[in-house]
Amino acid sequence: MNIIITGGSRGIGKCLVENLARDGHNILLNYNKSEKQAKKIQEDLKAEGIIIEIFKADVSKKIEVKALVEFALKKWENIDVLVNNAGIAKLQMFQDITEDDWNEIINTNLKSAFYTTQEVLPNMLHRKDGIIINISSIWGLVGASCETVYSISKAGLDAMTKSLAKELGPSNIRINSIAPGVIDTEMNSKLDEHIKNEIKAETPLGKIGKPIDIYKCVKWLIEDEFTTGQIISVNGGYVI
Ligand code: NAP
Repeated sequence: MNIIITGGSRGIGKCLVENLARDGHNILLNYNKSEKQAKKIQEDLKAEGIIIEIFKADVSKKIEVKALVEFALKKWENIDVLVNNAGIAKLQMFQDITEDDWNEIINTNLKSAFYTTQEVLPNMLHRKDGIIINISSIWGLVGASCETVYSISKAGLDAMTKSLAKELGPSNIRINSIAPGVIDTEMNSKLDEHIKNEIKAETPLGKIGKPIDIYKCVKWLIEDEFTTGQIISVNGGYVI
């Protein structure tokens, strides 16, 4: 399969790139700021005999997303899977949120998926085949204190998943969200040990998730042919 993964340079995206590439898929890793990391992933995989493509694009900008998808279509002709993974989070009190904060988070986490999906759809619709996976969050389901805009952006992604599943199902395009719980990546590097231990204690499975847990769900969604419009929350039971 030909797979575009946004935000593939670090964290969950990096894990998806490495493992899906090892599974034999063709991968286009999108990155924005972490060029060194993206090139290192490409080099490390090359050392294993695996070739992946990398492309710099700020997914909050329509013109850059257009260039990303054009690059993919030049390489492959078809795009089978789009994983909208790129995202940012910011901890702040509601009263402190500026319009710039709002725009940055909404544009990176939500509007980006509007851009990427619109760009890949003509190819998927033409072939009546395609898979779109939105990486949302438990906070879009239950709301997070001091992360209101982040939660809104993820709830928006989930609403997009449900609406588009209805619209695109007749064209055999499946779209689902994966709503991770707390996963051990740089995004959570500011959480101190005490808070991490509290989260573990409140999680029925007693642990924090790893990027590989999200990869396993993505792998299943790529193989599955009868699931669409679902929000699959991989969270250790933290939110039930
Ligand atoms: P991370 O380690 O901070 O990595 C974020 C990735 O997003 C990086 O590769 C970054 O690329 C990319 N990115 C950010 N802004 C971008 C932009 N404008 N254009 C292109 N790429 C951009 O975060 P993570 O934990 O792996 O999170 C991945 C996704 O999972 C996010 O959508 C996040 O909201 C979601 N999620 C994470 C958790 C968690 O606990 N970690 C829980 C629920 C949901 P560059 O560095 O190259 O800019």
